Amino acid sequence: IEYDDSMDGKMAVVDGKTGSLIVEPDADTLKKYQDQKDEELRQRAMLKELKGKTTETKSGHKIHLYANIGSTGDVASVLANDAEGIGLFRSEFIYLEKDNYPTEEEQFQIYKAVAQNMAGKKVIIRTLDIGRSTSRLITLIWHTRRIRQWVIVQSVSVWTDQKYFKTQLRALFRASMFGNISIMYPMIISVTEVKQIKAIVAEVKKELTEQGIPFKDDVEQGVMIETPAAVMISDLLAKEVDFFSIGTNDLTQYTLAIDRQNAKLDNIYDSHHEAVLRMIQMVIDNAHKEGIWAGICGELGADTTLTERFIQMGIDELSVSPTFVLPVRKIVRELD
Ligand code: PEP
Ligand code: MG
Repeated sequence: IEYDDSMDGKMAVVDGKTGSLIVEPDADTLKKYQDQKDEELRQRAMLKELKGKTTETKSGHKIHLYANIGSTGDVASVLANDAEGIGLFRSEFIYLEKDNYPTEEEQFQIYKAVAQNMAGKKVIIRTLDIGRSTSRLITLIWHTRRIRQWVIVQSVSVWTDQKYFKTQLRALFRASMFGNISIMYPMIISVTEVKQIKAIVAEVKKELTEQGIPFKDDVEQGVMIETPAAVMISDLLAKEVDFFSIGTNDLTQYTLAIDRQNAKLDNIYDSHHEAVLRMIQMVIDNAHKEGIWAGICGELGADTTLTERFIQMGIDELSVSPTFVLPVRKIVRELD
């Protein structure tokens, strides 16, 4: 609806769900919205009761329930919704907000602040995830022309030119002194790649040691399982890392060969596809065989129609948008 002066001073309903504004609603419409509002307040009060409670089934089976964030501003919402930690810190925003590539010190200050704000709770930070996703790359190029140059450089060289990767790792290891940081690597497709990452991490640690800069030596390191390749070799990957976090958003698009960013394909982007669900089971089983944990940080983790199935599969952790934390906890606590 277009705003015009004649609306000034009139009663209106703002429907935040549909993004519409209803000026001078009739009695029925007003009642409909009043009822909706009351219902939402009731729901919210009920969810509030779940704060401070554990995420466990009636039989006492516990899972970890963390939240996903895409900026430092989201931390307040993580805490307000009582997430037990951060299961996916998408570090891309640090790069997108800047004109130039962020320095080690700038990154360090951000990771340190988040770790400190989370006060000992787990914070899983994902290293920059731009390299292989063409659609994301295009979005980035559109986002601002200023970053075009480095994005293109980055896209072809993120894994070969180690400079940017090492800068981020140095910042992460330094920040590990200020909280409970884990590091997660995206878009993994091979064991070789993980071994290369480990070699780079060893170099970073050596350099920090030589420079007398403190860091935690035993920072937990895991990989995202979000390509069919990673699923199929998850038995081998499990021998190399501390945890798996399943990225169902990319895993679904690459398994079904459906671009997740093409809205016209949404009707066939079936995240409940049996192939995806079997892959999740396979990843969990392979993780457990090697004694490591497996979680889900893609959107599917917040799908409460699947919570019971995930728990039956043996999932150890779910990381969801902050507003889904309490609804997921509610479902888990209702399960036998
Ligand atoms: C995923 O692919 O499921 C995921 C969590 O990562 P992103 O959505 O950032 O690609
Ligand atoms: Mg992904």
